[in-house]
Amino acid sequence: MMKITLLGTGTSQGVPVVGCQCEVCKSNDPRDNRLRTSAFVEADGVSLLIDTGPDLRQQLLREQISHIDAVLVTHEHKDHLAGLDDIRPVFFMQKHPMDIYAMQRVLSVVRKDFDYAFKEHPYPGAPSFQLHPVRYDRFFVKNVEIQPIQVRHLTLPILGFRIGTFAYITDASFVADSELAHLQNLDVLVVNALHHEKHYSHFNLEQALHFVDVVKPKHAYLTHVSHHMGLYADVEKTLPPHVTLGYDGLKITIDR
Ligand SMILES: [Zn+2]
Ligand SMILES: [Zn+2]
Ligand SMILES: [Zn+2]
Repeated sequence: MMKITLLGTGTSQGVPVVGCQCEVCKSNDPRDNRLRTSAFVEADGVSLLIDTGPDLRQQLLREQISHIDAVLVTHEHKDHLAGLDDIRPVFFMQKHPMDIYAMQRVLSVVRKDFDYAFKEHPYPGAPSFQLHPVRYDRFFVKNVEIQPIQVRHLTLPILGFRIGTFAYITDASFVADSELAHLQNLDVLVVNALHHEKHYSHFNLEQALHFVDVVKPKHAYLTHVSHHMGLYADVEKTLPPHVTLGYDGLKITIDR
């Protein structure tokens, strides 16, 4: 039994974009409001947060999340990492360093950007992190097995994650065929789809739908969406029945 909550489904600037007057940014449909991309996974009693973007505080409040066993970070871009300090209330309650799993390169950025957490005598109130470098081999958080997926974000190697029959890939512009072995027999795939036009570092809608066709999950959800994608209500109608345009707060349950 696994429960997945899409905490945020917006691209790096979020939607609405500051100062934008387009119909998506001005829409009254709550599904057109997108915080920065992040997800919360509850699997076998273990709570995993994927990415800590700049909207993390709002996301934790909205979903009433007060317990996190570990943070998995896909990559170091600010829209996926800038909110890490907002984990502090959870850290204060749990009273032990927050476990963070990411590539070594990403952990170096965590050490640099949040250097106050790594001082020999940290200022009172600083968070504490336990860093776990991840390569491409599977690893465990408590009893939950996690398979990293190698993804390319333009030229940057980043990670997706497979947990049971769920896989989460964001900010991909390319996934090598060699990774498909890790993506067999999925109940749920979450994958990024920026907008309609081609983009150098993100799948557009056409590429995301093609990737879904190749991977063949039972159901796919699209995330990391830009205001240029169009109104939720319009875009959703154009998608095949096994693909859903993600929105903030969307909850997915997998019964096995
Ligand atoms: Zn991003
Ligand atoms: Zn706009
Ligand atoms: Zn990125």
